[in-house]
Amino acid sequence: MIKAPFQDEHVPPTEPGLRIILRRLREIIEEPGDGQSRLDKIVRQIAGLMVAEVCSIYLKRQDGSLELFATEGLNVTAVHRTFMKRGEGLVGRCAEMAVPINEPDAQSHPAFSYRPETGEEIYHSFLAVPILRSGDVLGVLTVQNKTPREYSDEDVEILQTTAMVLAEQLVSAGIPGANMAIEFSRRVGHVVRGQSISDGIALGHAVLHQPRVVVTRLTADDPNAESLRLETAITELKATVDEMLGSGDLAREGEHKDILEAYRMFANDRGWQRRLKEAIQSGLTAEAAVERVQNETRARMLRQRDPYWRDRVRDLEDLSDRLLRILTTPNAGGSAADKQLPHDAIVIARNMGAADLLDYDRTRLRGLVIEEGGGQSHVAIVARALGVVAVTDVRRVIERIDAGDPVIVDGNTGEVFVRPTGDVIQAYSDKVRFRARQQRQYRSLVGRPAITADGERIALQMNAGLPDDLIHLEQSGAEGIGLFRTELQFMVAATFPRGDRQTQVYRAVIEGAEGKPITFRTLDIGGDKVLPYMRQHAEDNPALGWRGIRMGLDRTALLRTQLRSMLRAAEGADLRVMIPMVSEPEEIIAARAILNREIEVLRRRGVGEPTRVQFGIMIEVPSLLFALDQALPLVDFASVGSNDLMQYFFASDRGNPKVSSRFDVLAPSFLRALKSVTEAGKRLGVPVALCGEIGGRPLEALALIGAGFRTLSMAPASIGPVKTMVLGMHAARTEAAVAELINKGGHSIRDGLAAFAASEGIEI
Ligand code: PEP
Ligand code: MG
Repeated sequence: MIKAPFQDEHVPPTEPGLRIILRRLREIIEEPGDGQSRLDKIVRQIAGLMVAEVCSIYLKRQDGSLELFATEGLNVTAVHRTFMKRGEGLVGRCAEMAVPINEPDAQSHPAFSYRPETGEEIYHSFLAVPILRSGDVLGVLTVQNKTPREYSDEDVEILQTTAMVLAEQLVSAGIPGANMAIEFSRRVGHVVRGQSISDGIALGHAVLHQPRVVVTRLTADDPNAESLRLETAITELKATVDEMLGSGDLAREGEHKDILEAYRMFANDRGWQRRLKEAIQSGLTAEAAVERVQNETRARMLRQRDPYWRDRVRDLEDLSDRLLRILTTPNAGGSAADKQLPHDAIVIARNMGAADLLDYDRTRLRGLVIEEGGGQSHVAIVARALGVVAVTDVRRVIERIDAGDPVIVDGNTGEVFVRPTGDVIQAYSDKVRFRARQQRQYRSLVGRPAITADGERIALQMNAGLPDDLIHLEQSGAEGIGLFRTELQFMVAATFPRGDRQTQVYRAVIEGAEGKPITFRTLDIGGDKVLPYMRQHAEDNPALGWRGIRMGLDRTALLRTQLRSMLRAAEGADLRVMIPMVSEPEEIIAARAILNREIEVLRRRGVGEPTRVQFGIMIEVPSLLFALDQALPLVDFASVGSNDLMQYFFASDRGNPKVSSRFDVLAPSFLRALKSVTEAGKRLGVPVALCGEIGGRPLEALALIGAGFRTLSMAPASIGPVKTMVLGMHAARTEAAVAELINKGGHSIRDGLAAFAASEGIEI
């Protein structure tokens, strides 16, 4: 069994010492007197009880700098006159990283910042701990001694616990300046930047996906009663984790199995429990003990070199939060679905799975803000499918937001405005009104076919992935579903959907489409699309790894079951099946043989068949661009997956903003490649569409029509804007302009094409 970092050899702190400090702190806080005199007494007490020559309190100011608020041992004249800039010196570093700093000879440390006014040159050993309250750093508490020595673990723990109690007392006793940093950061507005994953603008009020727990009762007189409370809560916690692991309902809970395994490991960890008990013995309540140990373990784990443990910090925090909720709220569990949502909810989450998002009442959901980036593609796809504006990778957003705060999410720029000012609200309200006007205009076009000024018919279809998406088919006026990503159904399911369940879903989609064509793509798992219940080997380059049809041809049972389910669901209707990630014609031959065999089986069994089965491929791997003459004759249709084709074409990860914006989809080289596909389609008589994200952007769609595409599949919300563009364009003139711009070369034809569109009066 792996040993957690808190399972080290550990000497419990001398409880009486800590208990005395905590008791004295409480007494001082309760004594009459002004804030400054109480702080002065506090530092004197701590210095005395910890046998330190110096004890100082630095508090954070509005700009993030630290101000010396009280000291025992340093020059008193330096109080309120010594400031450390954000991150400056060892004190600044302690506040910035929210970890203890223990230096036997502080002055020889490269980060040491000498302040002559304090007279600290004679003190060598230095210990600083952050004054933390619910994750916010309020300031720093330090002790110093003349003799160079490293403070013991016990000293560090005592000072940490003291700092935690101090934090609460400072805020609740209203010591002037003490909660300045918190109040300030809670009062002023912030703009935080992230990465957009679903376009649009959302104005609303914050709902914390996992509300922060604020521990207000810190000290207790009866350690036995607190230990009992803790034990009961841990038992309940363990039961919840076991239940989640055992229920097989992992996807609904939105947690992956290995995360839950890690939870179980922590929940059963003796080291963790022992530390909690020790903290209680020192005079803390059960919930304060959890917070105290959480702070300390977080710091300890973040110091680990092994990335495994650093990644586990989040698991431990989630587990501690669960325990805190059990201890502080009578009815803890509560899923998103039970939450009272405002009518304009903007959900703020540290991280989130697709299933969690689906738990929310969609009619009240406006926006989604995720703090952690990476690996969020499936949430992105679901957010887009639900029409929820979403931004990810928004660093440190949670600490700046309280539930109920007004928030604006700009899904076009990736900006999140927390407590926006009046002007920002005004500007965004205007934008929203403008968009609503546009939407009304788009709705008026729903029944109208997309025909260019010179009579070219352009088929505009939509992308989908969940049965719920079907409502958009009618609302958007899409002519069909050009790409049905079947993996979404697998990603939000608890376990691998069995054949009959798959048949039900596909049948519901076919019925819901009321005769409009649907192109079902077989499972495209791998890369950034993971199934929580399917163990996969870690790959160095998952996007280049075992995904799409590669997996289907290796795990034929999987592909066979899916094809059979589709064939059954499409009884009496037309079926269009498409395979993803094709790299060579042989894969087409192999997949088609499997499909034919399944048709044969159904026929032999006398089960009803589809009226027609059409078989197609995604063109998204560049090798296929050089095998079109061999590949296209093997299929009934093809669709370009420009999202993937683009990333493989430029060797530029589609999920990595550092490189994904480096190349433009309107690069002459890429457009030339796309043109070669439409030309091959025409030459060989095989219809070729495009279903990547670019089809939904008017200027890009103009370029695509100019490159010969006549069928585009896109997010439902893009159909209106693209149709408006199509109605104003002249296809032949656009083809000529695009050909000329491609020949000119350069990084991108974007500017040239935009100028052309403007000269033609095309609405982009
Ligand atoms: C694509 O790659 O362009 C595509 C449509 O498929 P996905 O985004 O699901 O990989
Ligand atoms: Mg793809």
